[in-house]
Amino acid sequence: MSGEARDACGVVGIYAPGEDVARLTYHALYALQHRGQESAGIAVSDGGTVVVYKDLGLVAQVFDETVLSSLRGHLAIGHVRYSTTGASSWANAQPSYKSGPAGQIALAHNGNLVNTVELKRSLAEAGGDPTPERARVASSSDTELVAAHIARERMNKLRGSNGHDPVSAKEAILEVLPKLSGAFSFTMMDEDKVFGARDPFGVRPLCIGRLPDGGWVLASETCALDLLGARFIRDVEPGELVMIDEQGVTSERFAPTTSAACVFEHVYFARPDSTLMGQNVYATRYRMGQRLAEEAPAQAELVMPLPDSGVPSAQGYAQASGIPYGEGFVKNRYVGRTFIQPTQSMRQQGIRMKLNPLREVIAGKRLVVIEDTIVRGNTTRQIVSMLREAGAREVHVRISSPPIKWPCFYGIDMPDQDDLIGAQLSVDEIRAHIQADSLAYLSLEGMLGATEIPQDAFCTACFSSRYPIPIPPIELRNKHVLEEPQTQRSSTRR
Ligand code: SF4
Repeated sequence: MSGEARDACGVVGIYAPGEDVARLTYHALYALQHRGQESAGIAVSDGGTVVVYKDLGLVAQVFDETVLSSLRGHLAIGHVRYSTTGASSWANAQPSYKSGPAGQIALAHNGNLVNTVELKRSLAEAGGDPTPERARVASSSDTELVAAHIARERMNKLRGSNGHDPVSAKEAILEVLPKLSGAFSFTMMDEDKVFGARDPFGVRPLCIGRLPDGGWVLASETCALDLLGARFIRDVEPGELVMIDEQGVTSERFAPTTSAACVFEHVYFARPDSTLMGQNVYATRYRMGQRLAEEAPAQAELVMPLPDSGVPSAQGYAQASGIPYGEGFVKNRYVGRTFIQPTQSMRQQGIRMKLNPLREVIAGKRLVVIEDTIVRGNTTRQIVSMLREAGAREVHVRISSPPIKWPCFYGIDMPDQDDLIGAQLSVDEIRAHIQADSLAYLSLEGMLGATEIPQDAFCTACFSSRYPIPIPPIELRNKHVLEEPQTQRSSTRR
């Protein structure tokens, strides 16, 4: 990936009496760091009080030994964030937290809601707490809004019983979830239970694992379970709320399942050692490379990846084409992602800091360079130029997904439509822009076929404009989408 689309977020939930849950959550967040590098947070409870600690920075920067040892309890949730809505600020770091006479709730969100205007309005009309103005000022994140809705629902139920009945967070959550539109994988907790929920389309992943000593883990990706030594049990189903307490895991449906999982998780976002929808991500990317070699062959002496995410596809391309595979770049692993640089010239310097071509490997050769996607095109152009400077005879760029033509509204931070090069230029014009000798993309059918998962289980909107969850006109305008996108028909099953 040319560092031009940003990850969404990663979430964790742990219920493990007798264990150091803050430390387990910290380790799980460490495994999910690739999903968000802007802020990190953990909420823990000892059964009576929920305590939240969060800050801007990487997991290892936010938490130290002193902080972790102060977070005591037997249940926890955690979050790593890259902002998809809301400014980059402490107030938008998660978990979000609300407390009141009805109890406490903490919430961590991966995804993006598309009906926040409606949710703010209904909170205002109901005289919710916080007021819309305070909600807007306190935090611009949709997660804060959901936490406020759950807190209000819980308060209403307490008032309805004249303050006599204990108020279950579960009932309030089940009231609120059907009102949300968009992508969400939540981990949530009250004082003594952990919850996990996935939107009815299952856009973002969320899985359940079992710790060796009997505790339970919820995590965005299975790589977090592996790090904890937890056994994968199953994915949380789209439209399902799971609750974990001393009784174990119980499940409720709040909507029928209509699978439209983000295919981009398989192409780029998820870690290659994770398993999504029963398929290992590395193996899927390898197959994408094999299909790319069949669809778009090239005459060359070396197949090389753009590290790291292009590696499995480049290996698959090399295997299927019979062209030797080699590492043409050395990557400095200690440099932050290129998109952190605010200006184009700083971004270009950032790329040189991060990647250095291996002249001895590439000089005089015709190269096939495998990348997983092109977003704006500037990074790819820079890479082609670096390879030519290092002596490459020809540079043939192959992309292991189709051109991105539409923005994402479901939790991946992509540029507006007018900054997506795939929306503005033809493939040959893009080739000319990046100054490659040839350029080819994997077809939509090829990408979906490589997942070995039924095609109608996926959201492909950024490639196809078929948005499975309708996008309100104001959201479309905000991302400079001028044409009417298609709406995907999805198979619904209970
Ligand atoms: S629009 Fe693209 S990135 Fe967004 S959820 Fe759909 S497939 Fe994923």
